[in-house]
Amino acid sequence: MTREVLECPKCPGELMPHTYGRKIQVHRCTDCGGLWCKPDVLLEMKKEWMSEAVLDSGDPKVGAALDRLDNIVCPEDGAQMEKTADERQTHIWYEACPECGGMFFDAGEFTDLKYDTFMDRVRDFVKGVRPDAGG
Ligand SMILES: [Zn+2]
Ligand SMILES: [Zn+2]
Repeated sequence: MTREVLECPKCPGELMPHTYGRKIQVHRCTDCGGLWCKPDVLLEMKKEWMSEAVLDSGDPKVGAALDRLDNIVCPEDGAQMEKTADERQTHIWYEACPECGGMFFDAGEFTDLKYDTFMDRVRDFVKGVRPDAGG
């Protein structure tokens, strides 16, 4: 993963390198707060406690507005990026580069992704508990 500053694919801002822990390095836009990362880094981010609070610090309202933007190109190689739905949480759409596999999440999208993953686990946990138990 490159350490250089990249141009944001969605706004005039710059993608600045940010690190979290030992394994996680992402780029975050100075203006819209969008996150640029690679799939292996995303896996680490999902595992890392509180990574969303540190890394996904942009304004979700700004991210939601930019989510409608189409035809964006990869900040690393200029390839046309494809809008992709998360395989488990299909309401979450992000842009993926067919060349390098890089992914762009609008501000708030990674938090959404991670929080839903967490809530799924909680739901699995409480599923067997009857609502009237212990009343
Ligand atoms: Zn931006
Ligand atoms: Zn790319």
